[in-house]
Amino acid sequence: MLQKQETVIEFRDVSYSPQHRAIVSNLNFSIRRGEALILLGRSGSGKTTTMKLINRLLTPTQGEVLFDGIPTNQWDEIKLRRKIGYVIQETGLFPHFTVERNVGLIPALEGWKPKQIKTRVFELLNLVGLEPEQFAKRYPHELSGGQRQRIGVARALAADPPVLLMDEPFGALDPITRLEIQSEFRRLQQELGKTVVFVTHDIQEAFVLASRIGLMDTGRLVVLGTPEDF
Ligand code: ATP
Repeated sequence: MLQKQETVIEFRDVSYSPQHRAIVSNLNFSIRRGEALILLGRSGSGKTTTMKLINRLLTPTQGEVLFDGIPTNQWDEIKLRRKIGYVIQETGLFPHFTVERNVGLIPALEGWKPKQIKTRVFELLNLVGLEPEQFAKRYPHELSGGQRQRIGVARALAADPPVLLMDEPFGALDPITRLEIQSEFRRLQQELGKTVVFVTHDIQEAFVLASRIGLMDTGRLVVLGTPEDF
């Protein structure tokens, strides 16, 4: 029973083969609460596909993915997405919305009061290392690529989802900012107890962030272990 509670995401013999072409095959693994699982692997090895199978942007053609013990295809789609924040490299901020509005969008949709939203947005901007007074009223085109990525992280955290999927979210950052945000993010993830699945091409980043590392090759998870195992 305890085991079941601790497992947030479980892949049970999952394959995704649209038109009989295997994109990912026979994935069997679980992710525990509070864990940071980093997926590494060559371009095209199936990392993004694996992420999308978690939040049901894709559905398995074989096997099933369970979220909190329930197959994702039995979840109400909106409820599932609220539990899972998704950060991608191109954050896709709304260009005509200020930073404050972009970050506060989901709480606003969920009916939070304007004051609550503002407090939450300021808290989040501080968390991702952006001075709220300086950034809240700016528009996306008034931000650098790295600042936009930070806003993407803040937005994903806005509704306080227990799980975060992050697909190369720091890809466009210069090495120094990247190092800063990596350790900031690791601290944040541990403090908030978030469960994270994170895709990167950067091996150093994987070792900074991971509690476990999964190595993918041609659609299969070929190694899964702690950083010490590698
Ligand atoms: P990258 O590191 O380049 O982002 P990745 O490991 O995340 O790659 P995926 O995006 O999961 O790889 O793609 C895996 C393979 O499946 C690629 O060869 C891609 O072209 C292909 N692919 C992805 N989605 C589909 C789809 N819906 N239909 C057909 N092929 C797809």
